Amino acid sequence: MKPRQCGECGKGKIRKVKKAGRTARYKTMQRIEIPKSFEIPTCDHCGTEWLDQKTASALDKVLEAWYRLELSHRVRESIDKIAQRRPQRRIEELLGLSHGYLSKLKSGDRDPSPELVSQLALIAREPEKRIKELEEYWGLAG
Ligand SMILES: [Zn+2]
Repeated sequence: MKPRQCGECGKGKIRKVKKAGRTARYKTMQRIEIPKSFEIPTCDHCGTEWLDQKTASALDKVLEAWYRLELSHRVRESIDKIAQRRPQRRIEELLGLSHGYLSKLKSGDRDPSPELVSQLALIAREPEKRIKELEEYWGLAG
């Protein structure tokens, strides 16, 4: 197939390119690294990327998979940090989660929501302080 002319610069040809260092924004993540093996139609003169429908939906799948892995990794980190201060059961009570839910997140049995990842990340920054605040807030102190 003859490469198309770039509609942006009018000089280059659009060819499928694999390379490192490309990033994309996805949901709550500002910069996700696009796998270097992923082909994106790119102008060989100005570098403009031309994402057709097929490439865009393939990229979306790749980013979604990466995003879920990243959330899972981050939630595990936060839970481990917080669990040094309180039993997991206590954290589940404070966040209104069902018993054993944090274990399911840790084992990868469940995918955490970005909201829950955010909450746990904030608590993990200052576990003792945040947990006490929540205990007070819900009347579970002491
Ligand atoms: Zn171009």
